[in-house]
Amino acid sequence: AIRRLLQMRNFIGLGPFVQASTLVVAEHEGGLVKPSSLSALAAAEAVSKENKISVLLGGSGPALHKAAEHAASSHLLVSETPLHDHWLNLGQTYSVQFSKGGYSHVIASSTSFGKNLLPRAAALLDVSPVTDVTSITEERVFVRPIYAGNALCTVRYTGDDPCIMSIRSTSFSPTSEAMSETKVAPITQVDLSFLSEESLKSSWVNLTSQDTERPDLANARVVVTGGRGLKSAENFKLLEQLAEKLGAAVGATRAAVDAGFVPNDLQVGQTGKIVAPELYMAFGVSGAIQHLAGMRDSKVIVAVNKDADAPIFQAADYGLVADLFEVLDELLKKIPDK
Ligand code: FAD
Repeated sequence: AIRRLLQMRNFIGLGPFVQASTLVVAEHEGGLVKPSSLSALAAAEAVSKENKISVLLGGSGPALHKAAEHAASSHLLVSETPLHDHWLNLGQTYSVQFSKGGYSHVIASSTSFGKNLLPRAAALLDVSPVTDVTSITEERVFVRPIYAGNALCTVRYTGDDPCIMSIRSTSFSPTSEAMSETKVAPITQVDLSFLSEESLKSSWVNLTSQDTERPDLANARVVVTGGRGLKSAENFKLLEQLAEKLGAAVGATRAAVDAGFVPNDLQVGQTGKIVAPELYMAFGVSGAIQHLAGMRDSKVIVAVNKDADAPIFQAADYGLVADLFEVLDELLKKIPDK
């Protein structure tokens, strides 16, 4: 009866009786909390002014300890085990953690990590996750895109605690709070005594990744994207040269990925990465709705396409009707090396 009463109170918009208390599940790399997780922290701050925020970090070794220092402004939970160094089935461990702390909200960024973890944990806790939140208007009222970003839907969460949600990191400026060196966080070690490799039903084999100096596509300030108009993997090297000069990340359309020009982790769009850089340059990209869904929030969009009727020009701030190879050639000659 009490649960029904709480649900009813949420439903009619009065919100929960208790103060919001949020767990942010953070990712880290090279001893630093990732910018996408700093955005999740910013989202937690937007839940309510009195929100009590904790951060959960998983992994092992010096990298975890350095990341814990980086996240030092919050109450910190550390789940220290090599089993969390890689993306195994984390749902089990984290669902236990989510249910323990009496949290009203659990937030992670909508990265591959968050998309892997949150639905599993939510299913184990029998709650419905709210995904891809772009704005928080009340403690339990969120805005999220639907129909490939063509409509924004406002939803009220009326389920049980915790309200598990993923946020679009491009919609929340990363908080600088975590970088504060003045506050020291109390650290709680998560009890993992129940955890074993067998219970995870998966084990880590190896990681194949490309060594690149270029910024991460999801967080880059400048992105240069190529579409099917690039015509070959060889021609994509021209875009890579431009990216080197601009300190940019390289992106691609699904057509370019499907044609084998580049690997699929470069895909931008509805079924790829969501980006919102300061500058997005699209070469030989038609501007299909599924591609626009992944980049339309970019601050300045530049498009080069030989077809003046290409839909990309409707989304572009600057459009150039031209042969992309001529434009790339000129840009590479005129822009000095970094
Ligand atoms: P095309 O549409 O073939 O466009 C190529 C463009 O290059 C043309 O406009 C042409 O005029 C121009 N061009 C050719 N040569 C030159 C030249 N020399 N100089 C200048 N311009 C030139 N797509 C994505 O990108 N991301 C997604 O996440 C995604 N998810 C999808 C999900 C679903 C469920 C579906 C159904 C589709 C999805 N797609 C996605 C595919 C999407 O619909 C388009 O097919 C794709 O984006 C087209 O890629 P493109 O613009 O490279 O190719």
